[in-house]
Amino acid sequence: MSESAPKLPSKILELMDGFRASKALFVASKLKIFDHLKHRGPLKAVDIANEVGTSVCGTERLLDACAALGLLEKTPQGYSNTDSANAYLTSDGEYSLHGYIIHSNDHLWPLFTNLESAVKEGSRQNHRAFGKKAEDLFKDYYHSEEVKQRFMAAMHSIAHLTARDVATAFDLSRFKSACDLGGCTGALAHELVQIYPNLKVTVFDLPEVIANTSYFQPSGQHMAPVTFVSGDFFKDNLPEADLYILSRVLHDWPDEKIHVLLSRISAVCKPGNALLVAEIVLDEKKTHPLRAVLQSLSMTEGKQRSGSEYKQLLEKYGFTNTEIKITGNLLDAVLCFKKNLSP
Ligand code: SAM
Repeated sequence: MSESAPKLPSKILELMDGFRASKALFVASKLKIFDHLKHRGPLKAVDIANEVGTSVCGTERLLDACAALGLLEKTPQGYSNTDSANAYLTSDGEYSLHGYIIHSNDHLWPLFTNLESAVKEGSRQNHRAFGKKAEDLFKDYYHSEEVKQRFMAAMHSIAHLTARDVATAFDLSRFKSACDLGGCTGALAHELVQIYPNLKVTVFDLPEVIANTSYFQPSGQHMAPVTFVSGDFFKDNLPEADLYILSRVLHDWPDEKIHVLLSRISAVCKPGNALLVAEIVLDEKKTHPLRAVLQSLSMTEGKQRSGSEYKQLLEKYGFTNTEIKITGNLLDAVLCFKKNLSP
């Protein structure tokens, strides 16, 4: 008896091959193939291989994979970048994701290779991936100049891509000063001063980070300066501001550390002033957006939260009237106000 052919489980097949596709993107980015092809006519595999210093046969296979993935165009004359490769995959594109892709290859890939152990043990697998335990996530990133620069470039690429949507999620024009705690390269701060020319913005981050921010400053633009202040937000005095900002900070830390940080912000934030949180806000079922759910698998001591969890957390530290804006970009925005003292 003949049965009809089974329907192909295309979603599952796509997931089965997903790691190959990611790695092809990572390696092409690492070899700067998209940079070599930027603003140039089609090039043959042999020419790219000679420029990059790779084998012709390996390069041809990688280029074909990139063409199959829609990252390159292939014609009889050779390979060229698609518009989206020019915009996002070249290392100097305005909204380049190159930094985050290299971080994904060099840091996240080894961690995710140990996902099985991470799930069994419920902990981050730095010791297996990199041969040492991570006492503090950031000490780990900042132990070498190279890793620090790589991490900062990764943060910068996502922050720059999301900054406009975060900065305009709410009308912030009533605030005169803002302090971006853990503001890293200042990507969000620069967007804020462009959109709100009367806003003075301070970026507060660890000294190792502040020492390296000059590389990431926008050039040739006439805009209000951003101030950079170094310090530890768990210990040092926080700069005074009408608006405090925590972008991609809360999801990194365990509850005890969040308690210290939010208590300190609450203590310096005057009634009526505000706190802006930029994170991916999970839906109440905690299965969407996929990006946040997959990020959780890195097993930091922190966690991703839903909208009601952010509201509840912020309320606990004296912040009220919480508004949530799902931006449709890679980060959402949560704005809340410090409660007036009871009469
Ligand atoms: N806010 C940036 C963004 O959204 O792209 C960076 C987010 S990154 C995940 C967290 C930032 O917090 C890093 O820049 C890190 O250096 C900073 N940070 C970590 N611990 C800190 C501390 N104790 N005091 C001040 N900044 C800290």
